[in-house]
Amino acid sequence: MSKVDYLIVGQGIAGSILSYQLLKKKKSFIVIDQGLNGSSSMVAAGIMNPLVLKRLTFSWRAEDFLSYNNTFYKELNSFFNQNFYSELKLEKVIKSEDELNYWKKKSLELHLSEYISEPTISSKSSIYNCYLGKVKHSSWINLNSFLKNYREFLNEKNLLVNESFDHKLVDLRKYKNIEFDKIVFCEGKNGHLNPFFDFVGFSPTKGELLTIESEDLKSKAILKKGVFILPIGNNLYKVGATYEWKWHSESPSQEKKELLIKLLKEIIDCNFTIINHEAGVRPSVKDRRPILGASPIIPNFYFFNGLGSRGCLMAPLLAKELIDSIENGTALHEEANLRRFLSRPS
Ligand SMILES: Cc1cc2nc3c(=O)[nH]c(=O)nc-3n(C[C@H](O)[C@H](O)[C@H](O)COP(=O)(O)OP(=O)(O)OC[C@H]3O[C@@H](n4cnc5c(N)ncnc54)[C@H](O)[C@@H]3O)c2cc1C
Repeated sequence: MSKVDYLIVGQGIAGSILSYQLLKKKKSFIVIDQGLNGSSSMVAAGIMNPLVLKRLTFSWRAEDFLSYNNTFYKELNSFFNQNFYSELKLEKVIKSEDELNYWKKKSLELHLSEYISEPTISSKSSIYNCYLGKVKHSSWINLNSFLKNYREFLNEKNLLVNESFDHKLVDLRKYKNIEFDKIVFCEGKNGHLNPFFDFVGFSPTKGELLTIESEDLKSKAILKKGVFILPIGNNLYKVGATYEWKWHSESPSQEKKELLIKLLKEIIDCNFTIINHEAGVRPSVKDRRPILGASPIIPNFYFFNGLGSRGCLMAPLLAKELIDSIENGTALHEEANLRRFLSRPS
């Protein structure tokens, strides 16, 4: 029989970062995960951008997340002696006069000028004539590589159980041969199947992306217009992503592949080859806020989900805030607290 402070279900970015923070706090834990393939985190591009580019406003709590991430992800790199995380410029491809004027106006605003710069004409021959508006403080985590490395690390330390968690078999403080004080469910898109948190309202979104190879593109920044083009090294780029609220199959579709190619060709004017096409389901919520907190009925059962399309930006600080609330009774951010679902009609 193993005895731990925390049992964590799921090793996507939520469960991985939560358990890593527990490790740093010297809390004991075991992670149960049925396999990384097909999780939203394994498909995610890993871009962290603090702005909503259409309106040039900040995404929810963006500055809180940025200031925490800057230290957190660098420390993660040093802990594993890897470069999972790096700062990476993001450039908005601007083609219309209206958008250009809007960017120019916004880039002069006192606060926003720390995050965007006035657009300049692109000198890249691989992309169509346009202006590029630069976003400062954008970054990238190679999530695929981090999750695989972290899984290996957990395996070596005997902290991972590689199987599907069966909710019918869990007692108040025991699951099979594991005794725990607290259990945290970080199940991503499967969160809606969790019987202890069935009052939570999900609105999952399917997303698809391509990996392309192009010797001619030669972009070192993330390009964005309709789709993003993310350089991941060796002339490879991720191109995505689509958003779909209703779908027949979780597999990649021909329709979305064609859409991505069409949008890509509106930006770049060079040859490319498609290397891969993937799809995933983002664990999103209607009010587009994460879901954190304790079950109102079983107080040592916790939920960490609803990371939607910005899991990489939000997960580190939210994991810290959840641990602080569990260990020290600190109040969770009201908009992220799962208790908001209890007072709502379903
Ligand atoms: C196409 C696409 C592109 C994206 N791009 C970005 C991006 O650029 N930047 C960004 O920040 N976000 C991006 N996202 C969103 C991001 O993927 C999510 O916010 C994040 O990965 C959610 O992480 P999670 O850990 O909550 O869930 P998941 O990644 O889904 O992880 C859940 C884990 O729990 C496990 N699990 C579930 N149920 C059980 C069970 N019963 N037993 C055992 N294990 C279980 C699963 O196997 C999985 O490993 C993108 C998503 C998609 C689909």
